[in-house]
Amino acid sequence: MNIVIFGPPGAGKGTQSNFIVKKFNLHQLSTGELLRKEIKDKTKLGKDIESIINSGNLVSDEIVSNLIEKYISNNMYKNKLIFDGYPRNLIQVKNLDFLLKKYNQKIDIVLKLSVSLKTIKKRISERKTLERRKDDNENIAVKRYEMYENNIEPVIEFYKQSKLLTVVNGEKPITEISDEISGLIEGFKGWLWEIRQYKYALNKNSLIYGSYRRDKYSTK
Ligand code: AMP
Repeated sequence: MNIVIFGPPGAGKGTQSNFIVKKFNLHQLSTGELLRKEIKDKTKLGKDIESIINSGNLVSDEIVSNLIEKYISNNMYKNKLIFDGYPRNLIQVKNLDFLLKKYNQKIDIVLKLSVSLKTIKKRISERKTLERRKDDNENIAVKRYEMYENNIEPVIEFYKQSKLLTVVNGEKPITEISDEISGLIEGFKGWLWEIRQYKYALNKNSLIYGSYRRDKYSTK
């Protein structure tokens, strides 16, 4: 199963992805974390993107696309990915669709965590003290929120049309959100199981029917 989780920066995507990863044995693919690691490791890419990230802007679609393809193409992660922070605009939505098809996969669930700017500001100021993330001061937080809002509408629309989108109220306590998400994933897995059983039963019936026909109309 592949899952997409999105929401404004500070909505708790990371926390919830972590929870899903552990409970359902998936692999978290956080583009923000991958990019921060490049900066920390002082790679060429890291040096190129540091100022973009610290100013609250988005890095180029091509850069993030190259990062995620490494995971999508890796058999170890096949149908086990949770995309955290990707896609963030319509180009990325289309690109994700393209890459998943290329590697014979698809998205099963899309979770949108909805949180107000007021709550985000409060959380960012708490996180700043805990993690000392450079890009987490309030002005940047507002800029990142606006950046999210400006780009996300077509993403929401695309997944709504594809009937994959579930909106989760991200204002609730963390454990309540986790329980809700957990229920959604369990529900999806149960539904998949039922479909498999149904297909199996159909298959079995046609086999029985087939042998019945062979017996009945056998000329021997
Ligand atoms: P996040 O940890 O998801 O809030 O991401 C932190 C920063 O990384 C963002 O503000 C962007 O600068 C950059 N970033 C993360 N994901 C993407 C993406 N899908 N497209 C472009 N930039 C991204």
